[in-house]
This record gives sequence, C-alpha cells and structure tokens, in this order.
Amino acid sequence: MKNILVMGGAGYIGSHTVRHLQEHGYGCIVADNLIYGHREAVSASSFELADLADKASLKAVFDKYRIDAVVHFAAFTYVGESVENPRKYYENNVVGTLNLLDVMLDHDVKKIVFSSTCATYGNPQYMPLDEKHPQAPINPYGRSKFVIEKIFEDYGRAYGLKYTALRYFNAAGASKDGQIGESHNPETHLIPLVLKAIKGERDCIKVFGTDYDTPDGTCLRDYVHVEDLAAAHRLALEKLDEFQGFLNLGTGIPTSVLEIIRAAEKVSGRKCPVVYEKRRAGDPAVLYAANEEARRVLGWKPGYTDIEEIIRTAWNWEMNRKF
Ligand code: UDP
Repeated sequence: MKNILVMGGAGYIGSHTVRHLQEHGYGCIVADNLIYGHREAVSASSFELADLADKASLKAVFDKYRIDAVVHFAAFTYVGESVENPRKYYENNVVGTLNLLDVMLDHDVKKIVFSSTCATYGNPQYMPLDEKHPQAPINPYGRSKFVIEKIFEDYGRAYGLKYTALRYFNAAGASKDGQIGESHNPETHLIPLVLKAIKGERDCIKVFGTDYDTPDGTCLRDYVHVEDLAAAHRLALEKLDEFQGFLNLGTGIPTSVLEIIRAAEKVSGRKCPVVYEKRRAGDPAVLYAANEEARRVLGWKPGYTDIEEIIRTAWNWEMNRKF
C-alpha cells in the first residue's frame, strides 16, 4: 500500500495526516474543494481540486492515479450550522461520501479510513466513553457521521469494503515545527479562541457555563493532539486487513475550560480576558474517551498527554501562522 488519496487533505486534521504519511514513506494525493481547506497547508506533490458533490471530479482523480486506499476527512463540521441547515450536512457528509464510495468501488479501491466523531454518541450515559456506548447523536452533524458509520458496515458485508472510522474527541494543537496548524473561519473552538483573546485579536473568551457538576463548574473535554490523530490514521490504514470497525481517539484525560485558559496563560506568559456566560445549548458537562481499544488494536498511544505541551504547539502556530 503506497498511494493514499486524502480527501479533505487541505483541512486541519487532513493536512497533518498528509505530512505524517509522507514522513512514513507513503505517496499522498490530496483532493479538496478548498471551501474550508487551505492550499498552503498541502505539501503533497499531487493536489487535485475535487468535490464530493461532483462525482465526475472524483472519477477523474481515480482515473489519473493508482490509489491503494483512501483517508476521508472531507466534511462540514459546524454543529450549530448543521442544526440550521441540515440539508448542507446530509448532502455533503452523507451523499458526498456515498459518491466517494461509489467511485472507489467502481475502481476496485476497497480500503478507507474515515473521520468520525464522539458526537455520534450523543448525551453520555457513563464516563469514560467507550466504543460500546449507545449511539444517539443529538444534532445533524453527529447524525451525518453516524449514518456513514452504518453505511460502512453494510458496504463491508456486501462489497468487502475494509473501513475504520476514528471517533475523535477534541482535536487540538499544531505541527511541532510550526508549519501547519488550525485555521478555521469562522473559528468556534476553545483553544484557538483563547489564544486569539490572549493575542488581543478578540476582546475576550466567553466561558459557556460555570454551573456544571464538575470540579470547577466548567465543562470537561478530552483534547487530543492533531499529530497523534495523524499517526492513528496511518496505523489504522496499516491494520485494515486485520481490523475493521470503530475506534475512539482521545487521551482519556478530562480538562476543564478554566484549566485550558490557565494553561494558555502559562504558556504565553500573558493574561486572558475572560467573560462568564450562560451554558451553550447542547454541551454535555463531561466528555472523555476510553482509548484502550485504539491502544490495543492499533498499538497507538497519544504522545501528547500534557495540556500545556499541546497548547504550546498551538500558541507557536498562532504567533507565526502562515494561513
Ligand atoms: N467553549 C467555551 N467558549 C468558547 C468555545 C467553547 O466555553 O468560546 C467550551 C464549550 O462549551 C466546551 C469546550 O469549550 O465545553 C470545548 O468546546 P469546542 O467548541 O472547542 O469543542 P466541542 O467540545 O464543542 O466539540
């Protein structure tokens, strides 16, 4: 297995995965529609402008290259927008993935590693979340990913598709060398928003809820470094003949919103202006991963387990961002 098509390889997690795969000797063909992705983030020699909605553009990529496997990141990921405009989410995330799978099967490409999410679990019934936790997503974004997981099971049985869907917790950080990092527009994620508030690019960070049943009253999340996610995709690809299924990717360590702010202040040596707000709708109090399955099946383990180290890479990127 040498040539990997990375759909959505110009995005945050995709671009880090491309670099990681190349460092491990794989050839990467990056396909992206560049709606949210950044051309500057792509170091692969082969870049193709393609869109999941446009089957002909996908077919052209598969006709041009010999592709051994696909890693599929191309998705819309804004939870709030998915509630306002579910068509956009089901069309791109679900119909688009069906298009991709069609073209793959037509070209006899039967291996795929896919970006899924802990949002497929919905409101947690117990912690830490393991892969056996019931899946009842509470918004169209989470449901779009859940539906694709089910499609993989059916396509696996019927067509011999070999798939692994990786359920990420909160992706965070940037490449260690500072060349690529997170760049969303609009940005909604906690860590980049905290760093922008520290930089003075935003007035403050709004803390959504201080009355949760948690040690400091703010939500707990599991922040996993983007380069650790990248490594897990390679390992999942390499194990596809032995393992197909669903794996959580998180550190297993819960960190509160206030702990993130404190760690960012420590890393940057500056104060973060904070405003306390009401809870944001749809936020569970606590979410963190049981990651034993990924450790056992993939031999994966998160290299970054110290939130300050994770934030240091994000701060380094934020201060020298290239896109
Ligand atoms: N959060 C916050 N202020 C913000 C953005 C996020 O307090 O401006 C909180 C949010 O309520 C959640 C945590 O930070 O508890 C992580 O949110 P994010 O949107 O980064 O990821 P999510 O866990 O929602 O996928």
